[in-house]
Amino acid sequence: MGPIKKVEPESPWRDVMGGASRWEIPVLDHGFIALVDAMPRLVPQDKTADAAIVQAARVSYGQGTKKVSEDRGLIRYLLRHRHTTPFEMVELKFHVCMPIFIARQWIRHRTANVNEYSGRYSIIPDRFYTPSLDQVRKQSASNRQGGEERLASPGAPDADLKTAQEFLTFLAKVEASYQDYLKLADAGVSRELARIGLPVNMYTEWYWKCDLHNTLHFLSLRLDPHAQSEIRDFAAAMLALIEPIAPYTVEAWKDYAAEGLRLSRLEIAALQRLATGGDGTLESDNARERAEWDAKRKSLGF
Ligand SMILES: Cc1cc2nc3c(=O)[nH]c(=O)nc-3n(C[C@H](O)[C@H](O)[C@H](O)COP(=O)(O)OP(=O)(O)OC[C@H]3O[C@@H](n4cnc5c(N)ncnc54)[C@H](O)[C@@H]3O)c2cc1C
Repeated sequence: MGPIKKVEPESPWRDVMGGASRWEIPVLDHGFIALVDAMPRLVPQDKTADAAIVQAARVSYGQGTKKVSEDRGLIRYLLRHRHTTPFEMVELKFHVCMPIFIARQWIRHRTANVNEYSGRYSIIPDRFYTPSLDQVRKQSASNRQGGEERLASPGAPDADLKTAQEFLTFLAKVEASYQDYLKLADAGVSRELARIGLPVNMYTEWYWKCDLHNTLHFLSLRLDPHAQSEIRDFAAAMLALIEPIAPYTVEAWKDYAAEGLRLSRLEIAALQRLATGGDGTLESDNARERAEWDAKRKSLGF
């Protein structure tokens, strides 16, 4: 083994977070998401964390790619062709404070490293997610998972308004149990048991570290209109935090993934029929699939 050889950078380094210890965005009534670290943290003066992706890709593609692709072009090529591993070279660490029912959805993303606040060690702070009256959503008739329509929207029937108010009264009752939790923990019930009567709209906190590839996968799923509105709010804030860290990657991801459109074989056939003056109906006996195709057609302007 030889001695350590230390190589000076060609130009002075720049901190991708501009020297800040965190970039924080408030979300919901008591939550936040903060970017607390990134890898690479230091990059050449005129670069961003995108540089780490390009550096990794050039190891496998070699000098051959250099003439056709400057950094942005190479990143766009990699993303378009789903060459995913270079995007794992960028790591992002977030501090997140979110309601427990959102944490349950978030934790399903298995490729992240997580450390959560412990209700066994510490008293859970008095923070509840309480939507305002005009934010109470109505159960959708077509989508079993959620709803966008508001119960207390202007002109809504009195019965709907009353239901929204009743929901908030119900939350207030549940939240009042917090005082019993404090009292019982104080009286000697272990914190790990005392907490089990608390509701899932309480806030929890964690550090969540994930590479950029899997963070973008998280964002694709959790910014989607099918995801619950509260987790979408966190995802939108996360996107705003990472955009300046790896701008070429985020731009390419928006172009090819987030705001792109995937077409099935049946959909391509329907589109081909449309293009030749035929009927653009999807040849499928599945009503949901046909409805999804109709929505895609509409978005394409057909
Ligand atoms: C709108 C919506 C509704 C949902 N509804 C439900 C629901 O009703 N019930 C429910 O249980 N879940 C539900 N989920 C969660 C969903 O099924 C996924 O668990 C979650 O979105 C994480 O996706 P993922 O596994 O692709 O992501 P990650 O866990 O982040 O994994 C990223 C990728 O890594 C690979 N990977 C990671 N771990 C493994 C592994 N152990 N084995 C093989 N490959 C792996 C997979 O390719 C995966 O796509 C819902 C998610 C969304 C977005």
